[in-house]
Amino acid sequence: MKPIEGDFEMTLDTAFTGYADPALHAEGLYIGGKWEAGTGIPVTDPSTGKTLAEVPDASIEDAMRAVDAAEAAAAGWRRTPPRQRSEILRRWFTLMTDHAEELALLISIENGKALADARGEVAYAAEFFRWYAEEATRIGGEFRHTPSGAHNILVDHEPIGIAVLITPWNFPAAMATRKIGPALAAGCTVILKPASETPLTAYAMVRLGAEAGVPPGVLNVLTTSNPGPVTAAMLADPRVRKLSFTGSTGVGRTLLAEAAKTVVNCSMELGGNAPFVVFDDADLSAAIDGAMVAKMRNGGEACTAANRFYVQSGIHDAFVEGLTQRMAALKLGAGYDPDTQCGPMITTKAVDKIDRLVSEAKDRGARATTGGAPLDSSGYYYPPTVLENVPTDASLAHEEIFGPVAAIYRFETEEEAIRLANATEYGLAAYVYSRDIMRAMHVGRGIETGMVGINRGLMSDPAAPFGGAKQSGLGREGGVTGILEFMEPKYFAVEF
Ligand code: NAD
Repeated sequence: MKPIEGDFEMTLDTAFTGYADPALHAEGLYIGGKWEAGTGIPVTDPSTGKTLAEVPDASIEDAMRAVDAAEAAAAGWRRTPPRQRSEILRRWFTLMTDHAEELALLISIENGKALADARGEVAYAAEFFRWYAEEATRIGGEFRHTPSGAHNILVDHEPIGIAVLITPWNFPAAMATRKIGPALAAGCTVILKPASETPLTAYAMVRLGAEAGVPPGVLNVLTTSNPGPVTAAMLADPRVRKLSFTGSTGVGRTLLAEAAKTVVNCSMELGGNAPFVVFDDADLSAAIDGAMVAKMRNGGEACTAANRFYVQSGIHDAFVEGLTQRMAALKLGAGYDPDTQCGPMITTKAVDKIDRLVSEAKDRGARATTGGAPLDSSGYYYPPTVLENVPTDASLAHEEIFGPVAAIYRFETEEEAIRLANATEYGLAAYVYSRDIMRAMHVGRGIETGMVGINRGLMSDPAAPFGGAKQSGLGREGGVTGILEFMEPKYFAVEF
């Protein structure tokens, strides 16, 4: 193992001050507009392995009190004029923007991602509030005549009811605002359960939400080390009508089964295994730039991260060489060190998984052109890695890597690229690079995913419908349709 160079604790004293201070956001559960002190869940700095703060560990009883609070606020919130809901969300957007730098620092501290990535996340996260502030006043309905012409069809959209929102650790701000924004705009009250690894950002944002005017009980937040039984209890309560989950496909399957018992409406944003297809006629430098973003945003810990690079034979060697140079030049370090380009992984378990996948691929003939082994450090680091000659049936090709590892496979024909891209249970995102837009669109249509980047390495945008096909999920977040996930259509057969 190679030791990491540099002092990774350099900015701790200064980083932890002001609004970015973890202690400030570990004050308690947020239920019915009140903070309830508690402890039980340690939050760790992944760059050092040290505990930053402890947040409360909610019980089933606490969760049921959160449902009570959401219920008590529900009737008033759904009657609130859309303009008023809109203005609250808009103020929340402004407050997040005002506190962007501190929120970014807090994300870097508890998640480990590089500050530049954290800044990008805060801007992206805040935009969901601005977008849904605008959408709140544009909730539409539908009017039609029956085909016979004899009757009328009037369709209204009503808030679906109390929603449970569960979010992962990899985008602690954006995965929460992508749910809270449309839910509150639609007129729903919610209970947010952020990931235990990164709860501080959620609590920090909620504090701003209260300042923006979100009424008590409309938004409740709880952290728990017992998410299975706590969520099951909430879903079993007939007052809860919606589950919006972002996380792994495995947990998503468990929650779908749980929600089936009371037929709770589910939106599921699950895992990905994105192919990144580069044709001989691609602009090489644009493809490498795009690959760096698609692979390295968040150190590879993104559901849309390029997991499998399929590169056509004619451009293969140049692509491997160019990507290797860029990956090898990245500076590894604590996320909150401003010079860092790749931060630590979230846990030692994450590093062990990457190590297992890379070791297996190497045992089967893959070659690391840079990186390829874990580092000796108290932090959870794995170096940026490029692997070539990876067998297409290696575990690396089928499991989410969730780390800074680019696995490259060679292909010859368009048909082969589509077949390889589709050889997975996942269907979230895909990337295609070619100067021939007809070819790129044809291949994009052939790949079974909810999203395709054509000559682009980044697709997330609050105005676009984000979500997956196959076992990557159900429903969409963002865009015009995102708000409908929190609304129930009601058809009136009206005679007039
Ligand atoms: P995870 O599934 O382990 O956890 C996600 C959330 O679910 C956390 O809050 C966790 O505490 C909670 N949870 C865990 N078990 C639960 C249970 N039995 N009942 C209720 N809640 C439970 O995922 P993670 O490790 O936090 O995040 C990484 C995963 O999320 C990856 O698979 C990634 O692809 C996926 N992800 C998907 C999207 C998307 O939009 N499709 C976005 C980000 C992350």
